[in-house]
Amino acid sequence: MDIKGGFVGAVGNTPLIRLNSLSDETGCEILGKAEFLNPGGSVKDRAALYIIEDAERRGLLKPGGTVVEGTAGNTGIGLTHICNAKGYKCVIIIPETQSQEKIDLLRTLGAEVRPVPAVPYRDPNNYVKLSGRTADEMENAIWANQFENLANRQAHYEMTGPEIWAQTDGKIDAWVAATGTGGTYAGVSMFLKETNPNVKCVVADPMGSGLYHYFKHGEVKSEGNSVTEGIGNGRITGNMEGAPVDDAIQVDDPFALKMIYQMLKQDGLFMGGSVGINVGAAVKLAQQMGPGQTIVTVLCDGGARYQSKLFNPAWLEQKGLLPENF
Ligand code: PMP
Repeated sequence: MDIKGGFVGAVGNTPLIRLNSLSDETGCEILGKAEFLNPGGSVKDRAALYIIEDAERRGLLKPGGTVVEGTAGNTGIGLTHICNAKGYKCVIIIPETQSQEKIDLLRTLGAEVRPVPAVPYRDPNNYVKLSGRTADEMENAIWANQFENLANRQAHYEMTGPEIWAQTDGKIDAWVAATGTGGTYAGVSMFLKETNPNVKCVVADPMGSGLYHYFKHGEVKSEGNSVTEGIGNGRITGNMEGAPVDDAIQVDDPFALKMIYQMLKQDGLFMGGSVGINVGAAVKLAQQMGPGQTIVTVLCDGGARYQSKLFNPAWLEQKGLLPENF
């Protein structure tokens, strides 16, 4: 028998998928960790689970309690599923620029959703800071605090990293991923470097994020912008601090969208925008490293969460982003 214990038991152990068309084109094995197959539909189910169970263990989250978080959506979706399964309430503060699909889904799942204007982190009304204050003001509530709470990267150090190592039988040359909180990137790269220091760990970065410039030149600086959601940062979060970074690769939206449409049409994989950045960086890394390498990245979530934007020709056209391979 192979039976999982409820939602929580079904988190993790996702397949590692060979991205056939891109592997064949580059001569490398480009492999995607299929995090969209988690029960809540994204990589953030893992962080949500570890954050909640860590707060339970430490006696911070008590029966009937509330979990408050500021999120681009996926962490909120993961948290709400787990709160439902464990009997907690969930309050989600989300920038109103995030896709309507994610906001609607959060409401359907039963979270109390508070969309707020998208303002920079330095503004006291930034969604992350608002979520911290909201938790402080509520009775019997915790702030998940995914950016600074190291239970986030611990999930990937203990689960995702070892899963990738086992699934490749240790035959992995490089790991590349974009960062939102940095939990996925940091947890996996810390595990892989510890296990084999020769694994090259590379940060993928969308335009408008400051990390590429930081890891290349030592200063957080950004230019341009991106239609991708959930990734990119203008600061080094607690979860990214101390993570091994061998290199950084910047990927622009046209290339990311080309990747997403290629995966959809040639590989049958319907993926979200951050996957385009990850896979685009994996392809660039394959070109840099040469054929014969095994490169692993993350398939963070599925395309249905972005149908009204990234898969809507009118929206793409208005942004001047309709890909050639649409
Ligand atoms: N892709 C998507 C779609 C996400 O929602 C997130 C999380 N914000 C990430 C990637 C990045 O994951 P992490 O927070 O672990 O860096």
